Amino acid sequence: MKLVYKSTRSKDETVSASQAILKGLASDGGLFVPNMIPQLDVSLEDLTKMSYQEIAYEVMKLFLTDFTEEELKYCINKAYDTKFDTPEIAPIREADGAYYLELFHGSTIAFKDMALSILPYLLTTSAKKNNVENEIVILTATSGDTGKAALAGFADVEGTKIIVFYPKHGVSPIQEKQMVTQKGNNTYVVGINGNFDDAQSGVKAMFNDKQLADEMNKAGYQFSSANSINIGRLVPQIVYYVYSYSRLVKENKIVAGEKINVVVPTGNFGNILAAYYAKNMGIPMNKLICASNDNKVLFDFFKTGTYDRNREFILTSSPSMDILISSNLERLVYRIAGQDSEINAELMKSLTKDGVYNITDEMKAKLADFVGGYSDEAETAKTIKKLYEDTGYVIDTHTAVAAGVYNDYKQDSKDDTKTIIASTASPFKFTRSVMEAIDPAYASKTDFELVDELSKIGNVKVPQAIEDIRNAKVLHDTVCDVDEMQNTVKNWLGM
Ligand SMILES: *Cc1c(COP(=O)(O)O)cnc(C)c1O
Repeated sequence: MKLVYKSTRSKDETVSASQAILKGLASDGGLFVPNMIPQLDVSLEDLTKMSYQEIAYEVMKLFLTDFTEEELKYCINKAYDTKFDTPEIAPIREADGAYYLELFHGSTIAFKDMALSILPYLLTTSAKKNNVENEIVILTATSGDTGKAALAGFADVEGTKIIVFYPKHGVSPIQEKQMVTQKGNNTYVVGINGNFDDAQSGVKAMFNDKQLADEMNKAGYQFSSANSINIGRLVPQIVYYVYSYSRLVKENKIVAGEKINVVVPTGNFGNILAAYYAKNMGIPMNKLICASNDNKVLFDFFKTGTYDRNREFILTSSPSMDILISSNLERLVYRIAGQDSEINAELMKSLTKDGVYNITDEMKAKLADFVGGYSDEAETAKTIKKLYEDTGYVIDTHTAVAAGVYNDYKQDSKDDTKTIIASTASPFKFTRSVMEAIDPAYASKTDFELVDELSKIGNVKVPQAIEDIRNAKVLHDTVCDVDEMQNTVKNWLGM
């Protein structure tokens, strides 16, 4: 059987990988999913001898079946180069009995770089393969990190424009500064008076608007997405789970074939879904532990089988996880429904209409790989402080949510399986929350004083991404209401 992509909401649409990357979202509003999950065709032992780039090729060639070897290797080598501040790309740090997989060594110091470094190359290659002549307009909703990583990836990439919508009052000061100082003639950053879900829903509505698509086409444009609804985001994220397993084997922390747990601080469910795909490709994994902050809609879902977004949206110190509609969960729901697009479409309709859906007991039984947990604000701060005091290692607020959930899980389950914690951001990106967790007295200092203090106490150099914004000029100051998003896009495109 050849691997192709289908929509999670209808049987009709079958597209190639490059077409799925170009479109982002299926025409019926569903997400593209591979019709099967391929098996790795190299042994776990052989993986230990490969570099990050070589493993990326082994994983991605199985999903991006209409890319030639030359095209794919070109994309990989362009993406995973010295933009990362370590040749390992994703190093592992052992602390307090867990393995922290540091996914923040790219140019914007959050894990989004792992996929957004390569997406522009995958997308422009896809455009060429499909003879696309329109200019591609990347429309992106961000809870803080995707925006900057996508801007950095697409800035000045020929044939593309990028527009980022972020919640004006829902991101960290450093996240906002990183975005509004973005250079590049093809970049546009807009704050919205609303939260991340509003931004994401507004963007999805534009994708689904046929009339807008026609107008765009006439003006020589077409939309694509840099959000994790794009399989061009998801597939590169599988790579680091395969890679990290191989490094643990290589460093004799585990033997080949030994199962590991993976803990992922979760928002839109893209990162943990990538871990699930890695497991299904043959990487030995025991539990996939889904960590939420106070917006614990996923914790409740795994516990009860009911997904219910009708609740207060809480702003936390881990803003990239402040999400009530986790888009990528749809891909998992489709799978546990036996790849039945009709069942899935019904559930998603119910989510749009009533904000809630229930899965059957049979579907719930297929979620046994997952464990849900959550960590509230006080526990998250305590986790940062304790890990720092015990080991000297400073983690960011999102990673701390995962670490807190893992500590609880270990205590309750007595499961001593070796465990990887996905470390999704540098603590420098959330300096204020991190430092105040360590000592509330830091509250009186400025953001950049805290940056220097963090460098001192954590014994790590200030990342280049932070140095770059210290004195950078603000270049974007547009703010709009949720119902003005579409007009804002049209105005900027001169339509
Ligand atoms: C985006 C993000 C997350 C959530 O990842 P999802 O793939 O959306 O679940 C967690 N932590 C950080 C730092 C992020 O930027």
